[in-house]
Amino acid sequence: NLAVRYRTGGFARPGHDRPMVRAVDDVSFALHAGETLGVVGESGCGKSTLARAILRLEPIAGGSIRLDGREMASAQGAEIAWLRARTAMIFQDPYNALNPRMSVGETLGEVVRVHRKAASLENRTRVLDLMALVGLGPELVDRKPRSLSGGQCQRVGIARALALEPELVIADECVAALDVSIQGQIINLLIDLKAKMRLALIFIAHDLTVVRRLCDRVAVMYLGRIVEIGSTEEIFTRPKHPYTRALIRAIPEMDPNRPLFQELLPGEPPSPIRTPAGCAFHPRCPEVMQICRDGPPPILSTAEDRNVACHRFPGAGVP
Ligand code: SF4
Ligand code: MG
Repeated sequence: NLAVRYRTGGFARPGHDRPMVRAVDDVSFALHAGETLGVVGESGCGKSTLARAILRLEPIAGGSIRLDGREMASAQGAEIAWLRARTAMIFQDPYNALNPRMSVGETLGEVVRVHRKAASLENRTRVLDLMALVGLGPELVDRKPRSLSGGQCQRVGIARALALEPELVIADECVAALDVSIQGQIINLLIDLKAKMRLALIFIAHDLTVVRRLCDRVAVMYLGRIVEIGSTEEIFTRPKHPYTRALIRAIPEMDPNRPLFQELLPGEPPSPIRTPAGCAFHPRCPEVMQICRDGPPPILSTAEDRNVACHRFPGAGVP
């Protein structure tokens, strides 16, 4: 039931507070060691905010985040440090995520040194091990980001994320800025690493083809909520929620008659500022019923491996 809310920018009407945005609204899921959860949805649906909230980089408005059974939603000081040592993030833009003045060796060495207090010799060995882990040769150790390719920069970003052997890694659109061929290499690397390291990985993406290759389960978000969750196989072959169905049908394939997403889902793109009443998806839903305007469908709970929040599937959402 994690919630993140913030006030919108701009001016409030006299006598009124600025409206609250429910960026993440009653979101629940469980993630196990070695498992990769894809989080998909259009931009603005709350994917990145959810990721940042889990790492305590956003103010939490309600709910719970438990890592190894320890409550992190209200964690302070030393507990936040405990969380930081066990989690890491891989960012979208591999160039900007790195310090341009630091070499690969310095970037990775710093993380190892700060957290492990390792002597410089061990530090050097560890840096080269990390580089090897992500497929970077030792000859690149003194290179600065500007003399690396986008793919190499992202490998450095991944090595940095893995430096402390985290239990949970969150990758937010980490291949979106890369060329398609490089994307494939980075995805192969992640597939390799998740098996090797038993990482729990949250992979945020809008490209469903990539999600299908990498993820064990998929959560579909719409306006701050998870509207459907299930195994990758289930979501791709038997999507239930009308929004998920539109996302899947719009995946680029060799089919020249493939409908565009905009054709499948005409109407306003969602705005979290004025969330529609009832089911938030109802103004765009091709299968809308009266009940959808009257009240929201059930919220999905943590316990479910497979579920959908939609009035078309009564009984769904009940733990
Ligand atoms: Fe569509 Fe109704 Fe289901 Fe919402 S609850 S997705 S409006 S059918
Ligand atoms: Mg984002």
